[in-house]
Amino acid sequence: MAREHGRIKARKRLARAKERQANARRDYAHKVARRLVNCADVIALEKLSLRAMTRSAKGIAQCPGRNVRAKVGLNRVVLDSGFGLLRQMIVAKAEEAARTVVEVDSRFSSQECSRCGHVARESRRRRRFRCVRCGYGNHADVNAALVIRRRAQLARKSGLHPAEEAGRRGQDAAA
Ligand SMILES: [Zn+2]
Repeated sequence: MAREHGRIKARKRLARAKERQANARRDYAHKVARRLVNCADVIALEKLSLRAMTRSAKGIAQCPGRNVRAKVGLNRVVLDSGFGLLRQMIVAKAEEAARTVVEVDSRFSSQECSRCGHVARESRRRRRFRCVRCGYGNHADVNAALVIRRRAQLARKSGLHPAEEAGRRGQDAAA
């Protein structure tokens, strides 16, 4: 009996800890989204097709997807880290504040030079990026973010994104 009781107690404690963690994550996502929306007129987000990733990980019983284990691990990281939540909050707050959100295809952004545009796998070495063509160097994440920004700028020049149009309408209404 005592052991059973202890087990229930432990389970409750775990549930409470998980709830606290979820709340902390939500608070954090709120703060980050608020800060981003406050300091930028245009926010570029990587197009992530989160749903496609989650769906593909399960596969089907007759034909389980390849790398299911790896994908499940990735999903756990993507979903657990509150990234989906953060996106939702950024998009919602941006809309409220009539900010522009541009979704950008991030493919090969880690291999592309943010200065000259050259794409090469060899330019990327772990956390460092050094362009094999022009010699530009930076932290790999910073370079990739600059590439995303450039793509967002190009996307804006070549025509308005639907989300952007919504933002514009909001701005017109506010003006
Ligand atoms: Zn370069």
